[in-house]
Amino acid sequence: MNTDAIQSHRLVHTFLELVQIDSPSGHEEVIGEHLKARLRDLGCSVEQDEAGNLIARLPGDGDDPILLSAHMDTVGKDTGIKPVIREGVIYSEGDTILGGDDKSGVAIILETLACLQEHPEWSHPPLEIVISVSEELGLVGAKKLDKSRLQAKWGVVLDAGGPIGVLVYAAPSQDSMKIAILGKKAHAGSEPEKGVNAIRVAAEAIAAMPLGRIDEETTANIGVIQGGEARNIVPDRVDMIAEARSRDEAKLQNQVDAMFRACHDAAARHGARVEFDVESSYRAYRIAPDQPPYIAAARAFQSLGIEVQPKMSGGGTDGNIFNEAGIPCVVLSTGMADVHTPDEHIAIQDMVDAARVLLALVTDAAS
Ligand SMILES: [Zn+2]
Repeated sequence: MNTDAIQSHRLVHTFLELVQIDSPSGHEEVIGEHLKARLRDLGCSVEQDEAGNLIARLPGDGDDPILLSAHMDTVGKDTGIKPVIREGVIYSEGDTILGGDDKSGVAIILETLACLQEHPEWSHPPLEIVISVSEELGLVGAKKLDKSRLQAKWGVVLDAGGPIGVLVYAAPSQDSMKIAILGKKAHAGSEPEKGVNAIRVAAEAIAAMPLGRIDEETTANIGVIQGGEARNIVPDRVDMIAEARSRDEAKLQNQVDAMFRACHDAAARHGARVEFDVESSYRAYRIAPDQPPYIAAARAFQSLGIEVQPKMSGGGTDGNIFNEAGIPCVVLSTGMADVHTPDEHIAIQDMVDAARVLLALVTDAAS
């Protein structure tokens, strides 16, 4: 069978090499160069856009390319990652992330390309590969990418955790909010009545807001709050950064409205003002079981005897951006676990299985 071509040793070697190349979001120059060379060696033509995203193309049969995507940046600021293998599982040495998010996705794509290069007799559609930058900063690279350059009709993003078989077919919309409460300064001791305490107003607003889990597809959070200058000054400004997510657009709008109203009501009670900026971070999507990426992924899992585990996600990936741009994508698990923490790890067998799935998907899609 085709998928026996996946070489565990080579895949692990690629993965270990990638995680040892520092690439926190915003610092992807070195890994970008490395990947450019790797992709060219694997037979792809490669372009890099101004943001640093790589678009690689591998010719194939037929006119409809498939998009394969992962991100090259890693979350936070960790560098000097030292991978260790214990009983078939790859960890970091312990004080950094591993960077399997999303170097595992990148390594799986490279291994799949290596198998295709070794077997030119296998039929597969043309492949369009996007390795994005700064995904962890809020899908920044994928947003900057000029999607009109892509010809793919559908695609697969390798950037989910969980057992192999996880098929993420829906993800929420997210709105980000920057909120400023503007009060009035006064001396806290001699004439507090002349001031409007922005911290007090913010506190009342937050206390009145629905936050946390709103329902099974809606969440909201105040993530950052800053304000005040000195003990003896009535503070005139508080800044907050907040978010709301929902897989239902109307519910998302309701939630943002409720947060807006809570701020305005509290401000009105005290004579403060509110600046409330909402920005759409990404939009929700839902891929139906009869759409090509869902069908192709489910068939690949089934061909390998792996149980399909359809999943709705609570977070965004580059898949949201591709879906919004009219390229329906599902997101598949690479086997990564406990991501964004020093406990992050990935089982070698899971990564191998994820690569077998991708190879099966790509070679089956020609038929
Ligand atoms: Zn990721």
